[in-house]
Order: sequence, then C-alpha cells, then structure tokens
Amino acid sequence: MKEQNYHMSPEEFRKYGYKVIDEIVEYYKKVEELPILPNIEFGDILEKLPKRPPLEGEDFDSIISDVKDIIIPGLTHWQSPNFFAYFPSNTSFPSILGELFSAGFGVQGMLWLTSPACTELEIRVMDWVVQLLGLPEKFTFNDKGGGVIQDSASSAALCAIIAARESITNSDINKYGFNKRLTAYVSDQTHSSVIKGLKIAGIGEENICYVKSDAEFKMDVSALEEKIKNDREGGKTPFFCCATIGTTSTMAIDPVLEIGKVCNRYGLWLHIDAAMAGTALLCDEYKYLLNGVSLANSFCFNPHKWMFTNFDCDCFFVDDRKKLISALTILPEYLKNISNKSLNEVIDYRDWQIPLGRRFRALKLWFVIRHYGKKGLEYHIRKHISLAALFEDIVNSSNDFEIVSKRSLNLVCFRHKKGNDFNKKLLKELNLKGKIFLSHSTMGDLFFLRFCVGQSYTEREHILEAWHHIEECSNKLLQ
Ligand SMILES: *Cc1c(COP(=O)(O)O)cnc(C)c1O
Repeated sequence: MKEQNYHMSPEEFRKYGYKVIDEIVEYYKKVEELPILPNIEFGDILEKLPKRPPLEGEDFDSIISDVKDIIIPGLTHWQSPNFFAYFPSNTSFPSILGELFSAGFGVQGMLWLTSPACTELEIRVMDWVVQLLGLPEKFTFNDKGGGVIQDSASSAALCAIIAARESITNSDINKYGFNKRLTAYVSDQTHSSVIKGLKIAGIGEENICYVKSDAEFKMDVSALEEKIKNDREGGKTPFFCCATIGTTSTMAIDPVLEIGKVCNRYGLWLHIDAAMAGTALLCDEYKYLLNGVSLANSFCFNPHKWMFTNFDCDCFFVDDRKKLISALTILPEYLKNISNKSLNEVIDYRDWQIPLGRRFRALKLWFVIRHYGKKGLEYHIRKHISLAALFEDIVNSSNDFEIVSKRSLNLVCFRHKKGNDFNKKLLKELNLKGKIFLSHSTMGDLFFLRFCVGQSYTEREHILEAWHHIEECSNKLLQ
C-alpha cells in the first residue's frame, strides 16, 4: 500500500534502489547477446505505451517490468562490446554511481552559493584534466584560464564562438547587435555542430568559410591564410577558426600549430575540437597531438565519448575566462551571490554556459578518474587503439577488402573492393543482422565503412567475431 502522501518511502527507495542496480547488472551481463539495433519500425514502441497518463499511482514493480518488456527491447545498445558505429558513448560503473549521487543530491549548481561543492569540485577536476591530458597550463585556474563541464561539444563550440564574437568587437554585438561582417573559418571536415553554433550566434552562413582539406583530410593552412587575407581586404572581420583533433569522418588531425600561427598573426580566436580524440592525450605516445594547442584560445573534448563517463560530459577550457564570462554574464538582482566573498573571487558557472541551471556533472568524472587513475584510463585507451590496429591488419590481409585512409587512433575506415552499391548493401545487411553495428561516411564519391573501437568492454574476441560477421555477410551477398 502506498503511504497517504503518495511519496515513495525511504525503505521502498532502498528496496527498489537495490533492485534497479540488480537490473542494470543483469543488463550488462546479457547486452552482448542482444541485437544491437532493435528490429522495429517507428511507432512500435509508442504503440505499447498507454495514450493517457495514470490517475492513480502505480506499483513500482510494474514500472520496472515495463522497462524490461518495452524499453530494453527498444534500445540501441551503445554499451554492447559489439558497437563499432559512429563514435562511442561509453560509460562505466563508477560513472553510473557518480550520476546516481548527483541525482540523489539533486543540487542545481548555477552559482557557487547554490552548492559550493558542485562548483569547487568541478574547478578541481577540470584542473586535474589539464594535468592528465598535458594541456597548456594557461587553461588552469592558476592562470587566467579555467575549465567548465558543458553538456556537449556543441555547447562548448557555441560558447567559444560567442566569447570570440564579443572579444573581437569589444562587446558591441551584445550591446547593439551586428554592425560588422564577422567571418569564421572551418574546414570541409569540421563537425556540423560548429556550423550550427555559428548559425545560432548570428554569424550567417554566407560568412562561414569552408577551407578545403588535403588528401589526408587535414585543413589546408595556406588556403586558410589566403581566405583570411582576402576577407580582410574585402572589409570583413575574420574572428574565429576551429581546428579539429580527430575529425568525425576519418579521425584526421588538423595541423594545429600552423593554424595557430595564422590565427595569432591575424587575431582570430582559435577553438580546438578534440571531442573524440582528446582522450588519447592521456597517453605519452599521443602527446604529440598537442603540438600547437598552446596557441589556442579554447579547447574541448568529451569524456562522454571515450573516457568511461556517461553522457553528458564535455570538458571545455578557455585561456582567458574573463572573455567567456563577460560575453555570457547576466546579473539580475535575484541571482546576486550573497556571500562573504567578493563577486570577483567566486566562480559562478552559470556565466560559463548557455543555460542558467546546471547539473552536478563533476561527480561522475571525479569518480571515473579516481577509480581508474591515470594508469587505468591509459590501459584501456591503449587497448582500444591496439584492437583497432588488429582490425586494420585483418582488413589489410584480406583480398576483398581495403583500407581507404590510414588508420588514425581507434578508427578504421575500410570498404569492400566491389564498389559503393555493394558496400551500402553490406552495411545494411550487417546492421540488420544485429550482431555488430557499424556506420559509414564518404570521401568525395567514395562510400566507406567506419569501424571505431571504444566501447568499455570490447576485447580481442569481439574484433575477431566482428570480422567473421563481415566476411560471412559479404560472401552471402556475393553468391
Ligand atoms: C561527436 C563530435 C562532436 C559533437 O559532440 P556533442 O558532444 O554530441 O555535441 C563535435 N565534434 C567532433 C569532432 C565530434 O566527434
């Protein structure tokens, strides 16, 4: 029987809390066996859900059993070790437990005052991340910079764009609206979220320059400089450039150092999008990817992709926090921080992001870093990269398949030699079969398959099995 006030009692919470954890453990035990993509049509799940909400509260057991009967069969299993599509969005038990605490405390950390621990833990963890990745000291709170957890790399890019916009115009656009033609520079491989951010920030599509990339999909720096020069001569104001460490299509690494020199010469804000590849910076052998990062104004990467921290968690760093804060600050009376410290001494993270409110995301990242330690994280990143290398070797030794661009980190781009239509059919069949999940991309007219190793529990046997399914499926199609 429910208590009269309708709340779940603390004892019921304890009981069902254990039960939910048990269900999550069971899910992880069997996820490998489940078809990765649910074999259903749009609307199939909707049909199983009542059209009207309940009037009377329901028994919690029946809610949990609906999760098992309706929700789990409708999931795409991102945590399956056979998930090789897109980029991963991996997680880990320590992260899930951190998230549980965050929900349990239910704090909203918009101001330092609205939960000092939420702000101060985030400050500390962001400084830890700088050390773990070997990022420039200027991104720490010791210096003029600092880090903040955003929901996504998309939001991080948008904040960087707005800070850059206000910095170059001395805050004019916030005050008067656009009175200048600002131009931004990306490559033809830059993630769509940066383009979206530029549109949202009012830059205008006509003012976005897509610098061509070279044969290895890296931004062509002389083309970048040429465009900036021309735009300046044409009376426009170049203000922002995004370089990518690990593009989404092929994990290409832009020449950050050369791009940085051009940006510094012409006074552009350089943002670095390392959403996926940033995690590799944990390991000494990939620190060379940092070459030129010291010239950047902002940098972001997603622990929610490859660093065992459940979605959402993006680490965003700026070299001059004042620029970000002055672009995004608002201060109505009801949000003034009443504390014994002066405002300047307090970090109020609401000024570092688009929304006012914010979740306590630092907990899960803190849990992950403390549980694994630098060594544990490195161990798994190295393993993923070596498994991708194994897959690359297998493709190279096959007669029917080929590598289409040199493997970069944990992403293998490959295809069957039989042409675009065959590869499209192969991908469709493979994903329909549900044993593994791959995605695709194109290089010009060339359609290829992407195999990314980054799920927390992927092992050698999963790579070998994946290859088995790929060969079997392609042989069947050839018959
Ligand atoms: C995934 C990805 C993004 C977008 O990440 P969100 O956190 O989903 O916004 C941006 N850039 C690159 C290079 C990515 O791989």
